Amino acid sequence: MEANNQTQYKPAISFRSVKKSYEQDGQTYDVLQDVTGDIQQGTIVAVLGPSGSGKSTLLSMCNLMRTPDSGEVNIYGKEVREWNVNELRRTAALAFQSAPVLDGTVRDNLSLVQRLHQSQLYSPEELASFTGLPPELLDRSAKDLSGGQRQRLSLARTLANPSSILLLDEITSALDPVSALEIEKLIKRQHQEKKWTVMWVTHNMEQAKRVADTIWFMADGRLLETAATETFFSNPQHEAARDFLKGGTR
Ligand code: ADP
Ligand code: MG
Repeated sequence: MEANNQTQYKPAISFRSVKKSYEQDGQTYDVLQDVTGDIQQGTIVAVLGPSGSGKSTLLSMCNLMRTPDSGEVNIYGKEVREWNVNELRRTAALAFQSAPVLDGTVRDNLSLVQRLHQSQLYSPEELASFTGLPPELLDRSAKDLSGGQRQRLSLARTLANPSSILLLDEITSALDPVSALEIEKLIKRQHQEKKWTVMWVTHNMEQAKRVADTIWFMADGRLLETAATETFFSNPQHEAARDFLKGGTR
């Protein structure tokens, strides 16, 4: 990929003093307070923290779903607002738990993404097989899928992007443990083959331990702690992280 060659030694994602707040009923809520951190190319970072700590907001800034009030989000060293939005979303693909399915069949849903991005990385059959969608579902209406199948379809659509950065927001949270493990293995395998960079929000601590090189722990809109996965789980530095791991504030 072009951006990669130009910026080989830059972090895949870098946040610099990112702030975001919302106005609601005349009150201002700070959702992100001065987040600064780098995610190196080819690594998997699990983003952990209590509900409402700003994880989804941070993730959504990497592909211009939202923009910071101040500060910078750089992808391969270039600020997101300087990217062409389509090119950015081809580079950094976001998958979330309840991505809407489009009208039409499952196959239509999968091939539309490829038409949009003018890429035929995988066939719909391959994408279905990667994500454990039975092939006979390909010609069914996507609206008829179960919750778990929709989640697989959403992931399959993300994998149809020729991206080198994956932004995953609780993608396995609605799946049964066996399916969650399958999806997790699939991403790990693809990560190893393709050297993807993955920013992975999860509330499953065992999943984080299995997949992540590094942990980012967020609380109250701050990136409170970043550490190697083993270090974080064996020796969390902040009280809030210790409480979180005990299950008190998850
Ligand atoms: P997390 O993913 O860690 O649960 P989020 O990033 O979704 O946290 O949200 C952080 C906080 O910002 C939450 O308290 C949420 O209610 C609030 N929030 C997010 N989006 C909006 C919005 N559009 N308007 C008002 N508040 C919002
Ligand atoms: Mg969230």
